[in-house]
Amino acid sequence: MHRLRKETFESLRAQMGGRALENEVLAPYMSMKVGGPANYVFRPESEEEVLLILRTLQRENVPYYVFGNGSNIIVRDEGYDGAVIMFAQDFSLIRLEGNLIFARAGALLKDTALAAADAGLTGLEFASGIPGSVGGAVTMNAGAYGGEIRDVLKSVRAVSKTGEILDIPESEAELSYRHSVFSSGEYIVLEAVFELKKGSPAGVRALMEDLSQKRSEKQPLEYPSCGSTFKRPEGYFAGKLIMDSGLKGARVGGASVSEKHCGFVVNDKNGTAADVLAVIELVKLTVKEKQGVELECEVKIL
Ligand code: FAD
Repeated sequence: MHRLRKETFESLRAQMGGRALENEVLAPYMSMKVGGPANYVFRPESEEEVLLILRTLQRENVPYYVFGNGSNIIVRDEGYDGAVIMFAQDFSLIRLEGNLIFARAGALLKDTALAAADAGLTGLEFASGIPGSVGGAVTMNAGAYGGEIRDVLKSVRAVSKTGEILDIPESEAELSYRHSVFSSGEYIVLEAVFELKKGSPAGVRALMEDLSQKRSEKQPLEYPSCGSTFKRPEGYFAGKLIMDSGLKGARVGGASVSEKHCGFVVNDKNGTAADVLAVIELVKLTVKEKQGVELECEVKIL
């Protein structure tokens, strides 16, 4: 078990209060609503705290994983033998300068898009219905309805594993389909700067509402999920391949392939992580067998 020394954790807790937690069950934080405990959860509220946490974990050889809003991670039932550094409300300041939006890693995309709308800035509408944080969205180069983070990102403030704080321009962030230079865990995103264009607040809001309606018509938003479970294979749509393989509604325990959108694995009956992972395996095997296509998970499995 990877544990901090008792005195070390007590000292972090003395500084961070309820934002430093021990043996914390992760399921409530996850959009799939599954997952066992992590040895620690730390929710930093400043760059200094991020650096302190990083240094402490490294010094005592405790592995860590970074969470945003937990909408693209499945944590196993056994939990995670390490520390979660979680970027949430405590690290979510959004500020505007002209047509630039500076959003800290824990800010929700929805709130960032709403701030843009209030200022009459256009470009982030595509992201308003993606239930992720800014840090998660930059890391995944999240996208929808023809837009992706790459289109509006100007630069990223990040910290490297060695504690160096850097400003990385978009051109060096290697954003591609659901991937970026941050995906490897080499850096932690602290803040993103988005460059938007002048529009009208009413026009921006109207487009956001239109996209939100499209999303709720097509996606099973009433159930816990991680959105599209699989990446889009070159030349195909994962959802169609899954449907054509006869897997609509296929179930293991409390998890199933959504009847509304076969690209979504949903936790519709209080399933465990094992149920969700079994459905994912079933889908991969069946699609490979029936369609000859290898599906790759978009979701991260911890
Ligand atoms: P998390 O799930 O917390 O983390 C995802 C990855 O990012 C992990 O590897 C994590 O380590 C890393 N990460 C998170 N924060 C940081 C950080 N600060 N620094 C470094 N690494 C970090 N995605 C789309 O692209 N388009 C969609 O239309 C879409 N629709 C969705 C609909 C639903 C209903 C759901 C549940 C999910 C959907 N998703 C979609 C998936 C998901 O919302 C996105 O991938 C989102 O960008 C993940 O953000 P997050 O903050 O939840 O990241």
